[in-house]
Amino acid sequence: MRRAALLGLSIAVLLLTAIPGSATTITIVNADGPGEGFNDPTPVAAVTGNTGTTVGQQRLNAFAAAAAYWANRLSSSVAITVHAQMNPLSCSPTSGVIGSAGAADFFSDFPSAPLAGTWYASALANKLAGFDLDSSTPEINAQFNSSVGNSTCLTGLNWWYGIGVTQPANTIPFYEIIRHELAHGLGFLTIVNPATGARALGQDDAFMLFLEDHSTGKTWGQMSDVERVVSAKDPGDLHWVGPHVVTASSILAAGRHPSGHVQMYAPAVLQQGSSVSHWDTALTPDELMEPNATPHPADLVTTQLLQDIGWSLQQTTGACIGDATTACLQAGRFEVKVDWQSTTTNGAGQVMSFGGQQAESDESVFWWFFSPTNFEMGVKVLNACTVNSKFWVFLSGLTDQGWTVHIRDTQTGATQTYSNTLGQLSRTFADTSAFTCP
Ligand SMILES: [Zn+2]
Ligand SMILES: [Zn+2]
Repeated sequence: MRRAALLGLSIAVLLLTAIPGSATTITIVNADGPGEGFNDPTPVAAVTGNTGTTVGQQRLNAFAAAAAYWANRLSSSVAITVHAQMNPLSCSPTSGVIGSAGAADFFSDFPSAPLAGTWYASALANKLAGFDLDSSTPEINAQFNSSVGNSTCLTGLNWWYGIGVTQPANTIPFYEIIRHELAHGLGFLTIVNPATGARALGQDDAFMLFLEDHSTGKTWGQMSDVERVVSAKDPGDLHWVGPHVVTASSILAAGRHPSGHVQMYAPAVLQQGSSVSHWDTALTPDELMEPNATPHPADLVTTQLLQDIGWSLQQTTGACIGDATTACLQAGRFEVKVDWQSTTTNGAGQVMSFGGQQAESDESVFWWFFSPTNFEMGVKVLNACTVNSKFWVFLSGLTDQGWTVHIRDTQTGATQTYSNTLGQLSRTFADTSAFTCP
């Protein structure tokens, strides 16, 4: 096993916050001192999605919510520890670092590593190995600027700690920044030096293997250092070609090649820290991992990129457990979930109730997005085993919002997704070969 340590930190642990109720445990280690950063006692009023009554508590709540976002998507039997601090970082009235996060280490050639001689971010390497390769260090280090809002730092801007809705003017949404930075920490980055094209300690990393120069058709794993330098500054032509992203990318209205490849950020002038390890700003709707923060970005292909590099998603096996955002149809065999996006926000579709009853029978379910009384779409899974040995899926919406329906066969593990692009009146699907009987 090889190890590449990129950052070193050693700070006292003062508080542990575990994120419960999910297959993946993400533990936030609050490494700030008394009275500062995540422990700032300044009283504040609650904001949307965040009931904290002090600045420090609102910061921790937003951090926990961002960690829960990933904990609820990705599957790992090994707990992920995030070492988090707020400190005064480099800042002036007009520009400043708002935060940074990264994998604490990269590992290669560990037990069960999918590819030899290939770096994997620590949390992903642990997941693939099935145990913690180094239990003495956290998997992700994160640091955010506590000076934002001071008269000398980004004058006129303030952190905003609300969750789930677009931030007010002149604020930086802490939750969204952390959701973005945690994805980097989970492996959404290459450790190739884009200025020289050199690979870290001469080895590939799991991310670079899916980067493609579309005009030559070569991936970064097939290129020389010089070719990688050129590819990193090739706007529109640097693509992600991983299969999970390609399958999911049809929902994008822009930033996508007809082949399904998705554009990565590759401006003609290299931007260290931004080029290559983000989606292109051309993606529409705006995606979470673009280099510049956008209001309430979508996650339509970011989770799939993490899947391409080796993460598995939760609940690819196991029984359907119905809740406010999960419907179980056909005696619990099929699990149905809906994600939606508007121009300003996104979220999970909620199972609708009529007159206090769940609007969910054994073969159909209705969903709301914005208000419990406002029907947006319906999904049916029909047993047609005696007709063509298939389960059929029929679905549509009365909405021009973007949506993706995820259906999982808990018996076989097979999945189907159906999507509608934001701004188009809902597509209707009538899939008479969706799942195989019995
Ligand atoms: Zn391509
Ligand atoms: Zn980033």
